[in-house]
Parts: sequence; structure tokens; C-alpha cells
Amino acid sequence: MGYDKPLPILSDENRPFWEACARGELRLQRCDACANVYFPPRPFCPACACRQVSVFKASGKGKLYSYVINHRPAAPGFTPPYAIAVVELDEGPRMMSNIIDCPQTPEALELDMKLEVAFEKLDDKITLPLFRPAKG
Ligand SMILES: [Zn+2]
Repeated sequence: MGYDKPLPILSDENRPFWEACARGELRLQRCDACANVYFPPRPFCPACACRQVSVFKASGKGKLYSYVINHRPAAPGFTPPYAIAVVELDEGPRMMSNIIDCPQTPEALELDMKLEVAFEKLDDKITLPLFRPAKG
């Protein structure tokens, strides 16, 4: 089955992140010097440039920070309308994602609504971290 959405490009810096997603883990990095938690993965802290950083498994929980609803068929594989969301993780970093299991409407997509990660396996290399409304 073909998948025609644009896929992330794997690099040495982000490969461990995608390998963790394939195992159902959302991974973040934390600076050992200043405790800054950041995303996307990189070998040094974006706040203080320290290279002593640790990888840890995130809770996978967050909230809807902002979104736009795209009504135009801008990217192949996405059927409009769909929301391009910015999710603020409980650990602090924000990441772009899509919200699933939820109507793609302003009525359903409430800012600050609680979300949890849901992994969508695309192929052997890429499993996308998407978000859905948290249960309970
Ligand atoms: Zn730092």
C-alpha cells in the first residue's frame, strides 16, 4: 500500500528519535547542564550549547497549543480540511503534528485540550507521532 504524504528524512541526529517512535516511545532530550528539555533532537542544547545531553522517554501527554485548519490540498496525501497542530508536551517542548480521532473543526479542536500521543506506522523506518484527545 502506497503512502504519498511527504516522509521525514532520516539523519544521524534524528534516527534514534524515529527508531524510538517505531517502538512506541516518544523521546526528548534534556540538557545535563541547564535542564532545558528540547525538540527536535540535536547533539547540543539550543539554550546553552552544552553537548552533555540525555535522552529520555516522554510521557506522550500534552495539550493543544495552537493549530490552523488547512482547507487547501497543499500537500499530497492530506485530504482537506485537516488541522496542522502545535502540541505543547507536558515536558515543555512543542512539536508540529496532526490531531486524529477528532473532527477537524474549530468546535472540536479546543485550545488547551488534553492530548496523548498515538503512533501511526508508515513503513519499516517511519512511525509518525500523532496526537488524539486524551481519554478520561
Ligand atoms: Zn542547556
